[in-house]
Amino acid sequence: MKIIMLGAPGAGKGTQAKMLADKYQIPHISTGDIFRANIKNGTELGNKAKEFMDKGLLVPDELVVDLVIDRFKEDDCKKGYILDGFPRTIPQAEALDKALSDIGDSVDFAVNVEVPDENIITRMGGRRACVGCGATYHVQFNPTKVEGVCDRCGKELILRDDDKPETVKKRLDVYHEQTQPLIDYYTNKGIIKEVDGTQDMNKVFDDIVDILGE
Ligand SMILES: [Zn+2]
Repeated sequence: MKIIMLGAPGAGKGTQAKMLADKYQIPHISTGDIFRANIKNGTELGNKAKEFMDKGLLVPDELVVDLVIDRFKEDDCKKGYILDGFPRTIPQAEALDKALSDIGDSVDFAVNVEVPDENIITRMGGRRACVGCGATYHVQFNPTKVEGVCDRCGKELILRDDDKPETVKKRLDVYHEQTQPLIDYYTNKGIIKEVDGTQDMNKVFDDIVDILGE
């Protein structure tokens, strides 16, 4: 089973990808992990990627695809995999399709964990972080015993810049601009599966399993 996970930052896509990897016993593959592993092991592709990253440049699509395809060759990918955070662009999606079709393969499903922007902004706006120990809370889902005070160390809690509505809104705008074409792309291929990500995370998981099968 080969799955692509799509979903906005804060939609819970990463959590679902991990749960699915557990259930189906297939690896959860993120490009960040692949980059780190290849750079750490000093592979040829890793060294190439590092050159771009050291210069503060984005790793080119072809190189990202090469790294991902290379990862597929490892033993744990025999039964399939869950791609998280890749592809991000149409050129990456096309390059992935081409590389897979060259080996007589294709992606089975693109699962889109759908959460309206307003929900994500509210969810993230409720996060709180401790200035002392870094513990994280949520005013609604994981509140502290005393409002604004860390349970662990008693220091003050703040709303991080990353979680502020205006920052989240900007990231969501970028996400939609990049991802909407991908959603259209996989819709045209007939493999897109929409899941209501506003539900409890276990319900979201059950819905995805219903789609993918046991
Ligand atoms: Zn603390």
